[in-house]
Amino acid sequence: MKTVSIILLGILLCIPVFGMDKKLNVPKQNFTVCIDPGHQAKGNNKTEAIAPGSTQKKAKVSSGTTGIGTKKPEYEVNLEASLILKQLLEKEGITVVMTREDHNVNISNAERAQISNNNKADMTIRIHCDSIDNSEKTGVTILVPSDTSKYTQSIYAESQKYAEYLKEALISKDIQVNGIFKREDITGFNWSQVPVIILEMGFMSNWHEDKMLSSPEYQTKLMESVVDALRIYKNSPAE
Ligand SMILES: [Zn+2]
Repeated sequence: MKTVSIILLGILLCIPVFGMDKKLNVPKQNFTVCIDPGHQAKGNNKTEAIAPGSTQKKAKVSSGTTGIGTKKPEYEVNLEASLILKQLLEKEGITVVMTREDHNVNISNAERAQISNNNKADMTIRIHCDSIDNSEKTGVTILVPSDTSKYTQSIYAESQKYAEYLKEALISKDIQVNGIFKREDITGFNWSQVPVIILEMGFMSNWHEDKMLSSPEYQTKLMESVVDALRIYKNSPAE
């Protein structure tokens, strides 16, 4: 009887102690990143609302650009870099959700945003390449949702904060950054309920940069910057 009482007392005393111990040791590991490799093998010109409830419409998913030198389609470069990013993030213990791991898919930009929403991603990284009618133009461009649009006001601050960390991480690796630009016209931003950025990795319309964008070494350098910035973001206080 006495032994039973001691055991019961022990259990009663231990429960709160264990409870506290557990709370103190909860690691900040519950971090999910959604990676959206831009475009797909075939664009889809059918339209969808640019934002929830909007009458303004845009193509569900455009076909993207092609390398001036490599003749490679953008969707291939985007997925190559995204798969490197996935591997790097998983090594960090971060949960990764991919919108696609295949070229032969048909997922609209609004649907891609909903994949992030459904998975309650802490950050969405959309990987793209640029193109412009000026073969001299080079460098990375970061796009963020608008702070004035009613659709994205609530996700702007966190998106912008991450974009700034990313810019610093890229510059510290001697990568040219053209700037961070707010955009109201991007379906994948307007449907997003979680922080999101687009990383335009460089210009496929520039001969040299196009070649670099297909190099696994350069892709890795870019994606390491994304991870470095996420590491800082993950440990920063919420806005
Ligand atoms: Zn693109």
